[in-house]
Amino acid sequence: MHPFETHIRNVPDFPKAGIIFKDITPLLQERFNEVIEAMANPLPWNEIDYVVGIESRGFILGAAMATLKGKGFIPVRKKGKLPPPVIAESYALEYGTDTLEMIINEKPGRVVLVDDVLATGGTLKAVMNLCQKNQLDVKALSLLINLTFLNKFKDEGHPVHSVLNY
Ligand code: AMP
Repeated sequence: MHPFETHIRNVPDFPKAGIIFKDITPLLQERFNEVIEAMANPLPWNEIDYVVGIESRGFILGAAMATLKGKGFIPVRKKGKLPPPVIAESYALEYGTDTLEMIINEKPGRVVLVDDVLATGGTLKAVMNLCQKNQLDVKALSLLINLTFLNKFKDEGHPVHSVLNY
């Protein structure tokens, strides 16, 4: 068992019935520095200009990774939080849809996408579409936790880096 796993709480039926929520707050509290190094060190930083962090746990992890490696940070936020000009991407949830937004980017760049948990992959796919429309070339995806049984990312040729895999 990975030493980080003892600091992750599995919370059944949160935020709704049937979901086992991976609560990483105890891990962030006890081992933050090691988490950031474990997520950041395997990435190809000479091919990366910016870290794209996904609201909101992706901000905590991605901003620290960007600082560690001396890169800039680009936030992806839920609809209505960023001022114009923004581009938006909607994606399907179990019930209904959700929308993510990013400020329109002025110049091309190469990025790594950062979030805490990869579950179905709907969120990351939406962010990949946003980047494609916004002159940002996605070089890698970095997650703390990959729930591999819920997604096919590893079979689709994307360079996915994850510290814990279930
Ligand atoms: P998905 O779009 O299904 O890959 O879901 C990814 C987003 O939902 C991430 O931003 C995660 O923070 C959150 N998420 C999904 N499933 C879980 C889970 N079991 N535990 C914690 N967060 C989750």
